[in-house]
Amino acid sequence: MKVLVINCGSSSLKYQLIDSETEKAMAVGLCERIGIDGRLNHTPAGGEKVVLDKAMPDHEVAIRMVLDALVDEKYGVIQDLKEIDAAGHRLVHGGEKFSSSVIIDDEVIKAVEECNPLAPLHNPANLIGVRACEAIMPGVPNIGVFDTAFHQTMEPVAYMYGLPYEYYEKYQVRRYGFHGTSHSFVSSRAIELLNLDPDNSKIIVCHLGNGSSISAVKNGKVVDTSMGMTPLEGLVMGTRCGDMDPTIVEYLAHRLDKSLEEVMVILNKQSGVYGLSGGVSSDFRDLDAASKEGNEKAKLAVEVFSYRTAKYIGSYIAAMNGVDAIVFTAGVGENNTIVRGQIMDYFGYMGITLDKEANQVRGEEKVISTLDSKVTVVVIPTNEELAIARETVALLK
Ligand code: ADP
Repeated sequence: MKVLVINCGSSSLKYQLIDSETEKAMAVGLCERIGIDGRLNHTPAGGEKVVLDKAMPDHEVAIRMVLDALVDEKYGVIQDLKEIDAAGHRLVHGGEKFSSSVIIDDEVIKAVEECNPLAPLHNPANLIGVRACEAIMPGVPNIGVFDTAFHQTMEPVAYMYGLPYEYYEKYQVRRYGFHGTSHSFVSSRAIELLNLDPDNSKIIVCHLGNGSSISAVKNGKVVDTSMGMTPLEGLVMGTRCGDMDPTIVEYLAHRLDKSLEEVMVILNKQSGVYGLSGGVSSDFRDLDAASKEGNEKAKLAVEVFSYRTAKYIGSYIAAMNGVDAIVFTAGVGENNTIVRGQIMDYFGYMGITLDKEANQVRGEEKVISTLDSKVTVVVIPTNEELAIARETVALLK
């Protein structure tokens, strides 16, 4: 099957056409500045990237351009749009309504809309992509794969906040978790790769990217994860603050004479390692370079990131009463040898040790712990698009 995987944001749309037989992307691309002016970046597998500056007033026009690019004589990868068997959509928030992927119909759309208040920026944008596909490719099934679904196995003890219970009942205030597609993909790959017993395994997945989250996966099911009702909770991230004293929101609003909304923008977009480094960068490559040149704030930012991550790993070992494997994935987890080293240094007391040479690996599957390490530490690249394509094929079979 050929599956068009779509990740639709408010002004951008990422896509991949994936051949489920080979599990390879036939083309990847990105529509940017939708509703502003419009730019399509399209790269056929093995070919040159094509950049088209063309008006994209809305998502329907953007998807039409993507489809045109896919069948283009020069840089297309299929002859006819009929070759596309299904569209798999990344949907951010399924609340408590969705614990797995679904074939999208009117009822599903309604249920996703009911989750909109929980993700007001993301869910409506995701649904625009679904509607555009329905309009342009009638008869082609649309499948929804939720960021939150894999985490729905969490028990109340892990997902309840210490707030009045009625806010959970009335307003669905609880922890949901995100990056579920990645945590699911990587944890099941770890079971396969390390030959673990699926029904008797304890895995900690560190998805460390621009957005970062950790999950504790026991016997294939999430028992806890670091992101909460929104992706702001948990680790220190590229520009998000992660866990902090909520009183800071009120304090900063007073001190800076800003509205709550303005303070929330600071916590989401100007904090994390970007803010900590004094604005050097949210990208760990820049932070490493600045640290090497003696920038103390950049160095501290990376250390705070590693320390917070190590604390979460420690707490998840407690949550599962043990751990068989610790997995690093996503941009930083797959590539940043310094961060991996700093994090794992905190676990020497437990007899978990990294093989310094193996830890030099970037972007490929590799065990990076020593043979005598008490726990296996491994790098496993994530592939959320492939995970969405697999879910799509599985649902349609
Ligand atoms: P997103 O959350 O946007 O998907 P990514 O998973 O792509 O983020 O992670 C982005 C981070 O990964 C950046 O901080 C960047 O420094 C790091 N990163 C990505 N690729 C590499 C690489 N090849 N070498 C080192 N660091 C990388």
